Amino acid sequence: MTTPTHLGNQPPTLTGDGAAQLAFARATQPDYPQWLEHVRAAAGCTRPIRLVGDLYTAIRTGTASAKILDRRHTDQLPDRAIYKACGTRLATVCPSCARTYQGDAYQILRSMLLGGNGIPGTVAAHPGVYATGTGPSFGDVHTRTINRHSCTNRERCDCRPEPCHARRDNPVCDHGTAMVCWARHDRDDSRLGQPLCLDCYDHDHHTVWNLYSTKLWHRTKQTAERRLAHLCRQRRIPFLVVVDQTGRPRRLPPVRLAHGKVAEMQRRAVIHFHAFIRLDGINPADLDAVVPPPAGIGVEDLVDALRHALATTTIDTPPHPDQPDGWPIAWGDQIDLQPITLAADGSLTDEKIVGYLAKYATKSTEITGHTSGRLDNDRIGDYANPTGDHTARLIHACWRLGRHRPPRDLRSTTRPALTGYARLRRWAHRLGYGGHFLTKARRGVTRFGVLRQRRITYRRQQTATPTEPAIRTADHTAAETTLTVGVLTYAGTGWHTLGDALLANTSADLARSRRETGREELAHETGTQLRAIQPTALAA
Ligand SMILES: [Zn+2]
Ligand SMILES: [Zn+2]
Ligand SMILES: [Zn+2]
Ligand SMILES: [Zn+2]
Repeated sequence: MTTPTHLGNQPPTLTGDGAAQLAFARATQPDYPQWLEHVRAAAGCTRPIRLVGDLYTAIRTGTASAKILDRRHTDQLPDRAIYKACGTRLATVCPSCARTYQGDAYQILRSMLLGGNGIPGTVAAHPGVYATGTGPSFGDVHTRTINRHSCTNRERCDCRPEPCHARRDNPVCDHGTAMVCWARHDRDDSRLGQPLCLDCYDHDHHTVWNLYSTKLWHRTKQTAERRLAHLCRQRRIPFLVVVDQTGRPRRLPPVRLAHGKVAEMQRRAVIHFHAFIRLDGINPADLDAVVPPPAGIGVEDLVDALRHALATTTIDTPPHPDQPDGWPIAWGDQIDLQPITLAADGSLTDEKIVGYLAKYATKSTEITGHTSGRLDNDRIGDYANPTGDHTARLIHACWRLGRHRPPRDLRSTTRPALTGYARLRRWAHRLGYGGHFLTKARRGVTRFGVLRQRRITYRRQQTATPTEPAIRTADHTAAETTLTVGVLTYAGTGWHTLGDALLANTSADLARSRRETGREELAHETGTQLRAIQPTALAA
């Protein structure tokens, strides 16, 4: 085997020709098929993690303690390391891993509504709502609205949008900017989401809203659940009594909400939420069980409770030196609640929504034009600017407001947890939003781990000699359990050479297109993918 040209931590400087030569050198080695098999689990990843250490194969029969059958060091394997896919959800970071994440997100959201992946199929009959909650206005921005669609296919919509801000009286703000815009903006117009007047726009309130939006969502869900509990009481639907861990009996309302929620950044850089919300009952004997809600409470009640909660829930933010009363946090008026309906054959009437949501889960702030990692004192100057464009002012607002730390307990030796407005600095690169892009209820929704484990097991069944970095996985046979346990440490990130990246990514892509499109299109796809690999994606 050739010793690969190690990229280390230097940015790759090889040209496309160099990569092709390295790929050729690798592919003509006698052990190339073994190498390809070895990297298969991480092949599509643009920046896999390399792990080195010992791999133990152990066997356990019944309840006896495990017996070690084999011990191998990664030195004996191709490249003397194991490759593990980076596993990011971000499409901008690693398209292949993001595609896997998107597929899992799709499965999770879909089985929330139809069952499957550990969720009983009976959930399809539970009342369910697709809810959208957006932030309020922090100042006028360029928008594209279509009042009435005449198109048949919304994805290929060519309907004429309304003029952006049509105002006959030509108002001018205090800064001398005309607060009108007669343009009918195209879908990809770069002005969309930009304030009409940057100086009028309330960037402070905007970032604080993003920061507290997750809390607003939690409170909203609680408010809706309380309203439903109240309704149950009114309708004399009996509450349940369960005994908690301390042995004390506790009364529980007979319904609860399960949700799968995705955060999406709007062009104006305000976060908004899309959520599937399902009404469940409660089994007092097994609180984790997914059971239908009691009769006498239906989808209209769920819509009503959510409408009430979205309209009334507010958060009081703490005082800030720049705003002694804090900022009000509430939903804007663009609220949408759609009952989830099933077609006669049991499929979702609007299955496309599930796909959209799964796709949003692989995105971050790219729609706003800003994509950076976490910012610190050294780098903040490159992005924050109080007189710059919209995102530069938002980042500046995060940094300025985030200077305010809650009073510190001087006797404490541990670093205080970042609370309140101080979190704005941590999330400045996300324009204040510090939450997850996909969250779900703890109960009644499939976990990511379930799908991940299923994938590992499936891959094992396809591979004769599993060499992937199983930290603790098990293959179950009748009475015996074979365990592969790795005691591994991190050795680096990225492929050894651009040539390796080219070969691994291409083979992963081949495998994918074989699955997805069939053989006819294969030659074409491969050609495209070979050209599409960007050296910059090969972070060392
Ligand atoms: Zn990856
Ligand atoms: Zn406009
Ligand atoms: Zn249209
Ligand atoms: Zn102004």
